[in-house]
Amino acid sequence: MKDYSDHIGIVGGGIAGLSLGCFLANKDIPSVIFERSVHLREGGAGISLSPNAINLLEQLDLKEHLFKEGLFSEKINFLDDEAFITSVDSRVCCISRERLVNILYKKYLELGGKVRFDHEFISFNPTTKVTQFQNSQTYKIWHLAACDGIKSTIRDKYFKSKEAPVFSGYSAWRCIGQNSTKDAYLQLSPRKHLVLYPISKTLSSFVGVIKTSTQQQESWIQEGDIEELKTDIGLMSKYHLATVNSADKFYKWGIYIRPVSNQYCTDSMTLFGDAAHPIVPFLGQGGCLSIEDGYVFSDLLSNANDFKEVQDKYEKIRMPRVKLITRLSKEQAVHNHISNPLVRKARNFIMSKTNIINWQMDRIYKF
Ligand SMILES: Cc1cc2nc3c(=O)[nH]c(=O)nc-3n(C[C@H](O)[C@H](O)[C@H](O)COP(=O)(O)OP(=O)(O)OC[C@H]3O[C@@H](n4cnc5c(N)ncnc54)[C@H](O)[C@@H]3O)c2cc1C
Repeated sequence: MKDYSDHIGIVGGGIAGLSLGCFLANKDIPSVIFERSVHLREGGAGISLSPNAINLLEQLDLKEHLFKEGLFSEKINFLDDEAFITSVDSRVCCISRERLVNILYKKYLELGGKVRFDHEFISFNPTTKVTQFQNSQTYKIWHLAACDGIKSTIRDKYFKSKEAPVFSGYSAWRCIGQNSTKDAYLQLSPRKHLVLYPISKTLSSFVGVIKTSTQQQESWIQEGDIEELKTDIGLMSKYHLATVNSADKFYKWGIYIRPVSNQYCTDSMTLFGDAAHPIVPFLGQGGCLSIEDGYVFSDLLSNANDFKEVQDKYEKIRMPRVKLITRLSKEQAVHNHISNPLVRKARNFIMSKTNIINWQMDRIYKF
């Protein structure tokens, strides 16, 4: 058995695990990441990071890397089907997930972090703090940080909520294609919305969310083909279509709802990222919230002696924020997918004639 009894053992090397590791290391708090994959695994999709996450990553001196490896889109254009509604200045950085995870991974190593790949978490003994992995390795750690994603084994095994996920009635298609646009485009249509944002000078990421009774798997790697995507989605603006037509891989993802958790911590374990708050992705905030989690926890830990107090404050700070974003994310799909022509007209009028979009962004981005 390896002795890491003065380390936080982080299970999961995704956005939550790597950013937590970086923020801890930045405060000289030792940690080790256990990741089940044999190497970093993120592909076929982009991610948008808003100022609430970018400002925190800046504290790790990563903003210039985001500038270099991703793209700060200039405007977000809103379309009703193909008709222009309005546009606002964009404040988000869009980047391929693979690049983001690599940036975080390099930073973590640079700060002295350790990553153990091919370590699939099996069990944890809260009394002895011994953690066991599929590859038969065991480690004694100080505290377990569960960053093992939306299907978290740790949440299901050790936390109260055991309710099965329920299909939300939405599923998403995603792909990356050639498109040198500098702007993002959000197409709002009855029963669907399509997001397009540039992730580099030549590539754009497409996500199409549709209301459907067909229950897709909740899988990041389930592939489909272009014809199936086009049949599912129907009308696409020329901006979205250009990206789809130039992509060569198409992925589909069933969106499931899990209950909002009222517990992120036990004495020996703390939940982060999707493991703590598996939200629907209609505001593009799941990854950003994961980064906020890691920052808050590390900051509290570096300033306190009493660990229980750290956990209490962590829940107190994170829960209201997560509840707000969870609610707004669900509502967003309803606004985006309005079918009634009169209500649609009223929505478009409000979007184009008031400052509601910026107001809503401020509400989400201010953290
Ligand atoms: C279609 C779609 C679009 C999205 N767009 C955005 C966006 O634009 N902006 C945004 O901020 N968010 C977005 N999100 C949400 C975002 O992807 C997630 O919130 C984010 O990836 C959560 O990070 P995580 O580290 O908690 O989980 P994950 O990224 O799932 O990472 C979990 C890690 O844990 C590992 N793991 C799992 N089980 C074990 C185990 N037993 N042992 C060891 N390791 C394990 C996995 O291999 C993985 O590396 C989107 C989500 C979807 C579905």
